[in-house]
Amino acid sequence: MSSATFTAHPESATQGCREFASLFQHPLLEEPPTGSAPSDQQRQYAMLARKAENLCRSCPLMQQCLYSAVVKHDVAGYAGGTTARQRMAIRNRLGITVAPEDFDTLAGITARNRHVDHDEVVRLRYANPHESLETLARRLGCSLSTVKRHLRRHRNEAQRPRVQPRPLPSMAEVLAAFRAVVAPATLHRAA
Ligand code: SF4
Repeated sequence: MSSATFTAHPESATQGCREFASLFQHPLLEEPPTGSAPSDQQRQYAMLARKAENLCRSCPLMQQCLYSAVVKHDVAGYAGGTTARQRMAIRNRLGITVAPEDFDTLAGITARNRHVDHDEVVRLRYANPHESLETLARRLGCSLSTVKRHLRRHRNEAQRPRVQPRPLPSMAEVLAAFRAVVAPATLHRAA
C-alpha cells in the first residue's frame, strides 16, 4: 500500500481474488521462494505479489479481509494486501498468534473450498460419538482429512495448559501494524 491509507471504494468494485483466481492461486504466491531460490523466480514472485497487491488495494473488502487474515485465520497465499510473511510480521508486532487454518487452497475470504467451523466439527463429534469419521465428513461437506485435522487440533488444545486469552486487537491496531510493515516495503520498492 503505497499511500498507507485505505480509500472508499466504488460499489462496482469487485474482489480481485475472485476475478483473477489463477493469480491468487499461483503456486509462487502460495509458497514464496526462499532467499536462495533462482533470481528469475524471485522476480516472478515480486511481479505476481505486486499485481495481487494492486487488486487488493482496490477491493471493497480490503480492511475486513486484512483483519480476518491477520487475526482470525492463518490462511496461505496472498490475502488482504499482504503476503503470508507480512502477516506474520504484523502478528509479531501485535503480539498475537493464530492457529494454522485448514483451508486446502487459496487464502482470502473468497476461498472456493467451504470453510469448516472448528467448533462445529467438535460439537458434532461429541453429539454422535458412535458415528464414523467418514459420515461426519459427509455431514459437514468436507474431506475426511479435514475432520481428522480438526479433531487432532481439539485434542492438542485440550492437553495444553489453559492461559487467559489475549483480547483481539482492534481494527485500528491491525491497520497501524499493517502500515508499519507493508508501507515501508512498498516505499522501498518504489525507490
Ligand atoms: S484477498 Fe481480500 S482484499 Fe484481496 S481481493 Fe480478495 S477479498 Fe479483496
